Amino acid sequence: MNVYELVKAKRDGRELAREEIEFLVSGFSLGAIPDYQFSSFLMAVYFQGMTFAETTALTMAMMNSGKVFDLSGIPGPKIDKHSTGGVGDKVSLVLAPLVAACGVKVPMVSGRGLGHTGGTLDKLESIPGFRTDLSFAEFRQGLNRNGFAMMGQTKELAPADKKMYALRDVTATVDSIPLIAASIMSKKLAEGIEGLVLDVKTGNGAFMSEVAQSRRLAETMIAIGKDMGRKVMALITDMNQPLGRAVGNSIELIEAIEALKGKGEPDLMEVTMTLAAQMLLMSRVARTSQQVCDRMGQAIGSGAALEHFRRMVKLQGGDPRVIDDYALLPTARFQFTLGAPRSGFVQEMDTLRIGMLAVELGAGRQKQDDKIDPAVGFWFRRKAGDRVQKGEVVVGVLANDPKPGKRIAAELGDCIRIGARRPEPTRLIHEILGGRNKPARHAKCGPDCGCSHSAAGRKGHRC
Ligand code: URA
Repeated sequence: MNVYELVKAKRDGRELAREEIEFLVSGFSLGAIPDYQFSSFLMAVYFQGMTFAETTALTMAMMNSGKVFDLSGIPGPKIDKHSTGGVGDKVSLVLAPLVAACGVKVPMVSGRGLGHTGGTLDKLESIPGFRTDLSFAEFRQGLNRNGFAMMGQTKELAPADKKMYALRDVTATVDSIPLIAASIMSKKLAEGIEGLVLDVKTGNGAFMSEVAQSRRLAETMIAIGKDMGRKVMALITDMNQPLGRAVGNSIELIEAIEALKGKGEPDLMEVTMTLAAQMLLMSRVARTSQQVCDRMGQAIGSGAALEHFRRMVKLQGGDPRVIDDYALLPTARFQFTLGAPRSGFVQEMDTLRIGMLAVELGAGRQKQDDKIDPAVGFWFRRKAGDRVQKGEVVVGVLANDPKPGKRIAAELGDCIRIGARRPEPTRLIHEILGGRNKPARHAKCGPDCGCSHSAAGRKGHRC
């Protein structure tokens, strides 16, 4: 096989055979195909797309470029969740201990911040001593002892993806559905899971801004998973404003811990609980909406989910005292605020720009080897739909360097549009694909009850 001929074939729209894709991926992964040739291949895929057979072949080639975890010796259903990435998305930090407390094993290989989006690993690493570079034996131990473990992609897990992703990042070939689908699914399938629940974000802070695009991505990933004999379903969830109120690393961790203590923000809880419900139903740990609601309400209300989180922190070398004393987490030296320029209602938020400003402040990386500052971030006092009075604080900025901190606080004003009328409420869960097609609700609730799992998880909630 000849690399030049294969790139040319793809450029001209010919469907590549499984062996040809394997040849390209393994050649690039092992260093036999140079970056300049593989970049041309990626760009050809970007413009020509891939058939489903090609996308599956690409996923398998990437998955098989490394080790595939064998979790068969671990009892219980093994289900993971993956998000395509957003701003303020701390769902994994709440969901993994919650679902583990309900009896599902969650082997979670998470990512770092990417572009304007935050990463679970960066948030966890705000905890002094916490390790995400686990060996497979440590990962297994976490799963066996505590029902979940959270680690980063290793050199052994889908190494072709790591190398391809770095090249895509600098050759404008990230936002291609077959490339994103293969990248995500190759890593997730290498975890040795039986099922996967996908959180495909849509909106002005997501990689895919239109619901139709997000649906295509979701359907492609579901089809790949099913083709490989796994249970896969997806939620399309809103990313037209940050999820919850915090954007940053230690500040998001605190918000997630508060959620585990039963004090979660309603939007964060709705997305978390709907995803978690699908994991419980997929694993058959719960069979009805009532069982789902009871188990999740109990896991939060009894403190079991928080205890699972505490044990995970301890098992992975972190200081568990941070859960009760947030002052032990990195804290910023300065705080700036943005006041509302006029009275009215928050109409919309430019989530991509908010994410980029967080990166600029130091919460994310502008270059691959940048060090992030875990202490900095934003806290949104007001979000879309909220009423504001002229001069009241809309957002607080935590910074370690006062100059950019002050400037960024002012620039956030351009990201938050305030108008006279209350906007239509935003829908958080746009679609559920490949699973139970309605968000599970408390069985006693009627359609007008307004109670969702987010309320069921709260202390003292009665339906
Ligand atoms: N997340 C991934 O893991 N890969 C992509 O290509 C995009 C988002």
